[in-house]
Amino acid sequence: MKKESKYKFETKAIHSGYDSTKHLDSLAPPIYQTSTFTFSSLEQGANRFAGAEGGYVYSRLSNPTVTILEERIAQLEAGEAALAFGSGMAAVSAVLIGLTKYGDHILCSKGVYGCTFGLLQILKEKYNIDHSFSDLATKEAILSHINENTACIYIETPINPTMTLVNLELVVSVAKEKGIIVVVDNTFSTPYLQQPLQLGCDLVIHSATKFIGGHGDVVAGLIAGDQELVGQLKKTVQKDIGGVIAPFDAWLLVRGLKTLAVRMDRHCENAEKIAAQLKEHPKVKAVYYPGDRDHPDYELMKKQMKKGGGLLSFELNGNYEQTVKAVNQLKLISIAVSLGDAETLIQHPASMTHGAVPEKVRKEMGISNELLRLSVGLESWEDIWQDLKQALDSV
Ligand SMILES: *Cc1c(COP(=O)(O)O)cnc(C)c1O
Repeated sequence: MKKESKYKFETKAIHSGYDSTKHLDSLAPPIYQTSTFTFSSLEQGANRFAGAEGGYVYSRLSNPTVTILEERIAQLEAGEAALAFGSGMAAVSAVLIGLTKYGDHILCSKGVYGCTFGLLQILKEKYNIDHSFSDLATKEAILSHINENTACIYIETPINPTMTLVNLELVVSVAKEKGIIVVVDNTFSTPYLQQPLQLGCDLVIHSATKFIGGHGDVVAGLIAGDQELVGQLKKTVQKDIGGVIAPFDAWLLVRGLKTLAVRMDRHCENAEKIAAQLKEHPKVKAVYYPGDRDHPDYELMKKQMKKGGGLLSFELNGNYEQTVKAVNQLKLISIAVSLGDAETLIQHPASMTHGAVPEKVRKEMGISNELLRLSVGLESWEDIWQDLKQALDSV
């Protein structure tokens, strides 16, 4: 609802997309657990199919609980429209398939999520859709990777796990000249910390499994952008490939979004404190956190993000065996992939999220066998630190 756009982020996260008077005054949005919708007459059904009349038809096309989520995330990302999917990868694959055709090329940031990397291989091997990677750090670097077949630029920032940033305004300025679509996977930042559409990017993708759900209990994806582009994807890759979200999962995300702003503030605050403590510990060789003043992209972070985020990586001052020992010594912190949950999670990129990447490439990406990634949770930062400290002290 446009009338809501006057409200600030925190308010929109709680109210936008939902009008209780249209749902029997229920404060919490109802879960429309239905596959299909009944028509009062054949003519009405025909009109809904033809788009001549509004209203729901079938839950792969749209569902009222899902619509609440889509309107809310569209408002939070400052987009005109949004779509929800059954996983982050369903969203990523819908976007990359929807934006490209046989013979096209995709330019990517230096690092992308492991399964996005896998999808790029499938697109190349089966559909002749090529890709290349670039640090996208200068106009020349970007231009040198663009050719007449480049259909889109696909960016993650901060880049997992070393947390380097991509200057979105710079990429947009080059892409606009060339008429190339810019897509940003905004999973790590959420719209609370970074709004790529406001910086001129065309589409935003989320693994809503992470900070947006926020409680480690749902797998889902989202995209947001302008009406034309999102509408096109809805009519094609969402409808005909069909990786849609279930109404209950949409409901969990609508609930998660209500606390996104307060959760992100705490994730960032805790991450800042943990990063500062890690930097002082003799068993830590390096800390990678964009909210740290010594991080090479700190100035860019100040410009394009609100805060440094809830994720950081650090390298143990020791060998692989000591790294294993330290992780196994943790008591409060859980060993798990995924991120953005209330619980602090730690993972070992070289053997987990980036285990499929050949060691040489991994080294080039800055992923040593002693690198650990932490998703800083919402516990007391002192408790998180005490656990890390006793583990580091033990090696
Ligand atoms: C987790 C993740 C994905 C994939 O999302 P799923 O919900 O697991 O399918 C994509 N991009 C990033 C940056 C992620 O962290």
